[in-house]
Amino acid sequence: MASSPTPTLAIDLHSHSTASDGLLSPTELVQRAAREGLAALALTDHDTLSGMAEAALAAQEHGVRLIPGVEVSALWESHTLHVLGLNVDPESEALQQALGEQGRLRSARGQAIAAKLRRLGFGAAADRALHLSGGASLGRAHFARALVDTRVAASEETAFRRLLRPGKPAYVSGGWLTLEKVIAAIHAAGGAAVLAHPMRYHISQTNFRRLVVRFASLGGQGLELGPARLKLEEIDAIVGASLRHGLGLSLGSDFHGPGHAIELGQTARLPPRVPVVWQDWGLFG
Ligand code: MN
Ligand code: MN
Ligand code: MN
Repeated sequence: MASSPTPTLAIDLHSHSTASDGLLSPTELVQRAAREGLAALALTDHDTLSGMAEAALAAQEHGVRLIPGVEVSALWESHTLHVLGLNVDPESEALQQALGEQGRLRSARGQAIAAKLRRLGFGAAADRALHLSGGASLGRAHFARALVDTRVAASEETAFRRLLRPGKPAYVSGGWLTLEKVIAAIHAAGGAAVLAHPMRYHISQTNFRRLVVRFASLGGQGLELGPARLKLEEIDAIVGASLRHGLGLSLGSDFHGPGHAIELGQTARLPPRVPVVWQDWGLFG
């Protein structure tokens, strides 16, 4: 069996709904997962579990195994990281309390971005972003979409590059919860803490090694092997770090909606015989 190819895993442990910056409602997301033949789907909205009840109902109806999850922004030194809490108890008070605190920080940041855009003369985009978020977890993606809708930017990518990134005129750094607090809250909810898209933080290799050491020492369980289109050397870096530090791997598409670059269920390929975070979740029989 050792030489058999890696089977296609019908599993997606990173996705967004309209509860944060995704385009599909939790129900539509689960319907799509069923249509794509996914055996398991984790809903991981930014800093909120508010889509979970609706997703759970739809999952029951469509025979999809729903893994309750959340993607939590976390501050490590001067860097903003994204930590996935997977297989969490959505009723956990400790986690809900942490996310409540984060929500206040997030909405303060959103208002500060809106104020900056207004001062830059893009008041319509600011209003549009608040409208688009519709009371959901407000993030920079909403501002990017609003800047496109109001014809300030030709694409969301351009909106980020010109206005929303660190160092750009409408950037506001988030006052996020610390990495330590985030991992503790995920653990308090019985979940696995997984560093999302590890190659997307624009940090040096040395800092990446330091981060993984810190993440593991805080009891973090895994590294996401994502996004789907990784370079070979990026795959090597993630898999190597996971093996060196006893971390499992996770797979997810980071799906935000139809028409975006990545489709639901589209993940990287898992190398054979690597530890995975879902080992003990009973997903496959
Ligand atoms: Mn997002
Ligand atoms: Mn992310
Ligand atoms: Mn995400």
